[in-house]
Amino acid sequence: MWTRHADDTITSATGQIVYFGEQRFLNDICFGDCCFVCGAKPHEKPFNNEHVFPEWLLRHLDLFDKSITLINGATVRYDRYTVPCCVECNSFMGDEIETPVSEAVRGGYDALVAFIGKGHPLAMATWMRLLFVKTHLKDRAMRFHLDERKGQEKIGDLYPWGHLHYTHNFARCFYTGCRIPPEAMGWVLTIPVKRTFSAHRFDFADNFIGQTMLLRLDDIAILTVLDDCGGVLQLMQEKLNRINGPLSELQLRELFVEMTWLNMHLKNRPAFGIDVDLKDETFRIVCDVPPTIELVELDYPLRGRLYRSALGEYFPTIKGVGMTHEETLAAVDSGRFTVLFDSDGKFINDVEWVLRET
Ligand SMILES: [Zn+2]
Repeated sequence: MWTRHADDTITSATGQIVYFGEQRFLNDICFGDCCFVCGAKPHEKPFNNEHVFPEWLLRHLDLFDKSITLINGATVRYDRYTVPCCVECNSFMGDEIETPVSEAVRGGYDALVAFIGKGHPLAMATWMRLLFVKTHLKDRAMRFHLDERKGQEKIGDLYPWGHLHYTHNFARCFYTGCRIPPEAMGWVLTIPVKRTFSAHRFDFADNFIGQTMLLRLDDIAILTVLDDCGGVLQLMQEKLNRINGPLSELQLRELFVEMTWLNMHLKNRPAFGIDVDLKDETFRIVCDVPPTIELVELDYPLRGRLYRSALGEYFPTIKGVGMTHEETLAAVDSGRFTVLFDSDGKFINDVEWVLRET
């Protein structure tokens, strides 16, 4: 029989942490150095740590000696970008999640769509959450200011870590056996991409508050919202239906901005909880989905800030049609700029019109 502790944590008869109560999650995982899967302390088991972006992905995209750029502008080599993980969990995670996902990714776009749609939607949803959790846990060690004289804060000091609580418990489902109903799984969207602007085979973006994540692996984009129970996808459906070709890298980033922005405006949010049977030793994440999807008043300047943050690197060379560089930035800041659709609302297949050398 399982035991529920005073901090709401649930353990099995053998001591396995089945469910992390929020405070234990904060203490041991967010602010401690325990294995992010099982919660073991470093002296309790052998640790070999887990790459934030798994090794098979680094190999697949030739990223071992390349670096990720953090929000403070610092760079960290992908092969040194790791979080605490014990050998046992690392190996189990490889068998249960990484191997099937890696085979689907290596199979190309159609194989990945089939994998998510028909075969293993939970494996993909779990993999995306593992990435999200690992990325943000790593931010605990990354200085916010590159210049130490400006302060010692870490990027992770800015996070309201409680937001990650259910995402973390979801991400551990392969280890705990937690059942995930379809409504709690959310959605994972795959879209074909054509590489036009970037020399890189890999792109990654996430937003802690927006609970969104974007991955581009060569010519495949994977997008997800972690906590909307599908609400944002429904809101975006009409726009998505108008996209009738592969996205450029810019358009993909705009789509990421759009879903992040919309998720920040949901009036009634899904509420997550757990349903546990200590005697039967089963539990599942439950999700109370609002009956209707409504938005609060849209904050367009916020869209502008998200847009600058996600696409800023491109702006020295992007101008809107008939716009100067300054007018383009003003349109971006107003929250109305788009590289997805033309003035008639048609999807822009030819992206050359927005690219002008300065
Ligand atoms: Zn472990």
